[in-house]
Amino acid sequence: MGALTNAFNKMVGRVKQMIQTRDQLLLDVSHELRSPITRMKVALALLPEDENRAGMTADLNEMEAMITEMLELERLRDGRGIKVERQDLAMILRDVARSLDQKAPGIRLASVPNHLLLEVDGEKMRVVLRNLLENAIKYSLPDSSVIDVSVIQSDNWAVIRIRDDGPGVPQADLANLFEPFFRVDRSRSRKTGGYGLGLSICKRIMEAHGGRIEVENNSDRGVSFILTLPDNNPGNISSHLAG
Ligand code: ADP
Repeated sequence: MGALTNAFNKMVGRVKQMIQTRDQLLLDVSHELRSPITRMKVALALLPEDENRAGMTADLNEMEAMITEMLELERLRDGRGIKVERQDLAMILRDVARSLDQKAPGIRLASVPNHLLLEVDGEKMRVVLRNLLENAIKYSLPDSSVIDVSVIQSDNWAVIRIRDDGPGVPQADLANLFEPFFRVDRSRSRKTGGYGLGLSICKRIMEAHGGRIEVENNSDRGVSFILTLPDNNPGNISSHLAG
């Protein structure tokens, strides 16, 4: 038993070290790529304007966006990189939903209180909500019903649920969804966008708040993302529902 425990502990240590090495490598590569990309952009700007230049500029912009996201992911490590203050998350939620409202299949804030005052980093929570709602829209099907957003308050937690009616996620992939660069459909196209970093950034942001993010397939169709945030002042929250 002792030998087994020992071996197991050693293995855990090695896995931890492997993950750290991988993360450090990602960070180093991201940093190193920044200067050559900037140089290439400058060089490209000096070339005559044509289709090639436009295509290369688009590619470079994409690489730059990806590197920015990777560095952002690192900045949020271990609960760092956020600045919390008292914010009305219900207002932020309505704001983000409104900005995406024109896109099918639409967003319904079914049971969201008028106010949800929490100690959060407003800008970072905006990133999380926008990511999840944009995904819900992006992965919706032509016959998908409206995306449903609801808030439940319990004891010392506020729980936000975003439910879509898209294709859902294969059960075996659910556990990997928050891993950097993970995509259910491995082939990335310009149309489906993303590099698979969005959800890992969401996870880091939620953890930095002392909260969490979970995902489950709905019993009928689509997935629900569940955000849980600590609520240290539950008595303060309005129980009135916005229409
Ligand atoms: P991406 O930029 O590729 O969308 P994300 O990190 O946001 O990256 O998501 C990772 C993967 O999770 C996506 O590529 C997609 O396969 C899957 N996914 C995310 N949201 C949904 C959703 N609402 N419905 C179905 N699949 C989803």
